[in-house]
Amino acid sequence: MTLLDVRDLTIRTGEGHTLVDALSLTVAPGERLGLIGESGSGKSLTTLAVLGLLPDGMTAHGSVELAGTQIVGAGEKQLTRVRGRDAAIVFQEPLTALDPLMRVGRQLAEPLGRRRGLKGDALKRAVAEALDQVRLPEPDRIARAFPHEISGGQRQRVALAMALACDPKLLIADEPTTALDVTVQAEMLDLIDTLVQERDMAVLFVSHDLAVVAKVTDRVLVLKDGRAVEEGDVRDLVRAPREEYTRALVASARQLESALDLGSAR
Ligand code: ADP
Ligand code: MG
Repeated sequence: MTLLDVRDLTIRTGEGHTLVDALSLTVAPGERLGLIGESGSGKSLTTLAVLGLLPDGMTAHGSVELAGTQIVGAGEKQLTRVRGRDAAIVFQEPLTALDPLMRVGRQLAEPLGRRRGLKGDALKRAVAEALDQVRLPEPDRIARAFPHEISGGQRQRVALAMALACDPKLLIADEPTTALDVTVQAEMLDLIDTLVQERDMAVLFVSHDLAVVAKVTDRVLVLKDGRAVEEGDVRDLVRAPREEYTRALVASARQLESALDLGSAR
C-alpha cells in the first residue's frame, strides 16, 4: 500500500503560471524519498500541497492521496484531521512552526495533550520526554524558555518535537538543516535519521544538496522547473546520473563520498 500517492500534481498561480507541472511520486510506509533540485524548482510548493497548505491564490490540480485522503480539494475540517497525524512538516526556518510569544513547553503541550488526552503532571512529563527525545539537554529549562531564548539548532529540535508530537506516518522535512551551522547540521541529520528509524516513519526529505539527501534517504527524485527530471536509488543516481542536470547536482554536492559512506553504515 502507498502512504503518499501524488499523481499529475500541477500547481498554478492565480495568474495561470504553472509552477509545478504534472509531478508524480509515491512514498510507501516507512520509505524515505528525497526531493532535490535547485532553488525555485518547486520543492517547497510540492510539500505544501501534500498538506493542503499552498499560499492563497495558488491552486493544485491532479491527485494527492495521503493515507487514503484526497488532499486536492479537501476542506479545512478534513485537512485538520490529516495534518500532524498522517503527515507533519519541519520547515527550513523553525520559527515558521513556533509562536514567538509562547513558552516552548506550552506549545508542545497543545498537540501532545490533544493527541494523548493528557493533563497536569502527566502532560508536563510528556513534554519533557518529547524534548528529551530530540536530544535537548535540560528539557525543563527549555520548556520554560521562549523560542528566542534558545539557539537556532535547539529551535529546530523543538520544531521536530512538535512535528513528531502526533506520531505522523510521514515526516516531511523541507531543508531542515539549511539554516543551521555545519556542525549542527550534521547532528540534526543524524537525529532525524535515528528517530525515523526508531519510529518506522516514512520521510519526504527536501534539499538542494544531494549530499544531505543521500544521508537520510534511499530513493531520490530530481526536480527542475517544476518537472521531474530523473528518479532512482540514491547511489545509482550519484554514480551514474542519466541527465545533464543531475550530473551538475552531483558535481556541486559537497562531501558526497562521506555522505554515502555514512549512508551505507546504516
Ligand atoms: P524551491 O522550494 O524548490 O526553492 P518553491 O517551491 O518555493 O521552490 O517555488 C517554486 C516556484 O514558485 C519559484 O519560481 C517561486 O518563485 C514560485 N513561488 C513560490 N511561492 C510563490 C508565491 N507565494 N507566489 C508566487 N510564486 C511563488
Ligand atoms: Mg524551498
